[in-house]
Amino acid sequence: MHELSLCESIRDVVLTAAQGRPVTGVTVRIGRLRQVVPESLLFCWDAIRHESARGDGLLADAEMAIEEVPVTLACANCGKQTLVEDDLAMLCPGCFATAVEPVTGTECLVLTVDVREAGADRAGIADHAAAGAGMGS
Ligand SMILES: [Zn+2]
Repeated sequence: MHELSLCESIRDVVLTAAQGRPVTGVTVRIGRLRQVVPESLLFCWDAIRHESARGDGLLADAEMAIEEVPVTLACANCGKQTLVEDDLAMLCPGCFATAVEPVTGTECLVLTVDVREAGADRAGIADHAAAGAGMGS
């Protein structure tokens, strides 16, 4: 299952960002082109949390929030950028050219990691967002 391996990648990024502190929340940004089913992702994340609860417990309370990014296509034919609802049809809604490039919708990264610690509630996000950009397939 695609979502499980994705969750394992997210777990690795989150644990690195948390640096041994208990995690209370995680926000991930996923573009629609990744074809991730949010419900499946949350289900798999729950499995990761349960696994953590039986181990070091660092992720046991880590609620996941998913920020979905719609698909925007840039057309090489007519030059328009269009937000598309049907992201499986990779063609320009304006002129029906297939010479389109996704501008948004391919995102896949860990946006925020909340940790339980007085004074600092967000772990080095900028660094780890970059590290997370390459995860998944
Ligand atoms: Zn076009």
